[in-house]
Amino acid sequence: MSALVPLRSDLAALEGYHSPQVATPVRLNTNESPFPPPETWRDDLAAEIERIEFNRYPDRGAAELRGALAELHGVGAEEVFCANGSNEVLQCLLLGFGGPGRRALLFEPTYALHSHIARLTGTAVVAGGRGPDFRIDAAEAESRLAATRPEITFVCSPNNPTGAAERPEVVARIADAAPGLVVVDEAYGQFARTSALELRGPDRPGLVVVRTFSKTWAMAACRLGYLVADPAVVAGCEAVALPYHLSAFSQAAGVLALRYRREMEARVAAVAEERGRVSAALVDLAVEWWPSDANFILFRPTGREAGAVWQGLLEAGVLVRDCSSWDGLAGCLRVTVGTPAENDRFLEALGRSLGAAR
Ligand SMILES: *Cc1c(COP(=O)(O)O)cnc(C)c1O
Repeated sequence: MSALVPLRSDLAALEGYHSPQVATPVRLNTNESPFPPPETWRDDLAAEIERIEFNRYPDRGAAELRGALAELHGVGAEEVFCANGSNEVLQCLLLGFGGPGRRALLFEPTYALHSHIARLTGTAVVAGGRGPDFRIDAAEAESRLAATRPEITFVCSPNNPTGAAERPEVVARIADAAPGLVVVDEAYGQFARTSALELRGPDRPGLVVVRTFSKTWAMAACRLGYLVADPAVVAGCEAVALPYHLSAFSQAAGVLALRYRREMEARVAAVAEERGRVSAALVDLAVEWWPSDANFILFRPTGREAGAVWQGLLEAGVLVRDCSSWDGLAGCLRVTVGTPAENDRFLEALGRSLGAAR
């Protein structure tokens, strides 16, 4: 006989992480790049796929990709670990260094996957707060660290969904006070002026920087992310990752992408310029909004209920993220910066949805 088994009881209360995938003309809800990678990258990849030996397992150590990333960041290949999206990187960190009896500290509101994956791995989650501008208060963080003694502390910078990057002094103070790993999620790192990569050193062996190809590299479909950390952290992640987890296809896509760094930086600059334009336009609308160092903007309609505004935007063909039910984000929506035409459409629809005459 066989029988159905209920889901693990500690998971039953967890809602899955679902960003609705609605087929709508303007999708500004998941912070993807609005621009595709270069046409020539596609051609390179097509040629590379011709060379893949599909009957063979891929390079288990992803040596070429790690080597290329190590070169990009001026570190050793033994300090780089790659996985299927930075989400799998986070999962490996939590499997290896979190787990039952261990704690992860994070500062809400922040990227939902940090607490979600922590719970999936049986890691206890301790949530600190943020200041009124959604930045981490270094003194509060230090007292949280002293009280919690977490094995892992998550810092998301720039922070999703609120947008601001943490000041390097704040990240440094957290790294100096933390008794365990400090994982700085820099999914939007290339939009910010500073990086925790610059804070790494022998006096901060537990500082881990996580990045992804999903946003600035315009490769969300590839599912590729990585971390830069002490070789012991890399070894821990390798110990828990499934063998051959990273396909030959993903490895090739990443290696080739790194040859188009200038194009990536040009995309980032174009999005940052559009972010400035959208932010400036929000000033004239009935919304409160927060300055962003990333490719999205958090805003709160002041005269109308967020759900109604979200629905109004959707009816106009524009999908944004409804964050209004998230802790600390009552009434808030988040819009990804798109192409100039998408942003125009968003601003026009928002104006109408807010009931403002434009
Ligand atoms: C989008 C995002 C990621 C990306 O996850 P992938 O698995 O690499 O696609 C990671 N962290 C944050 C904060 C994000 O916003």
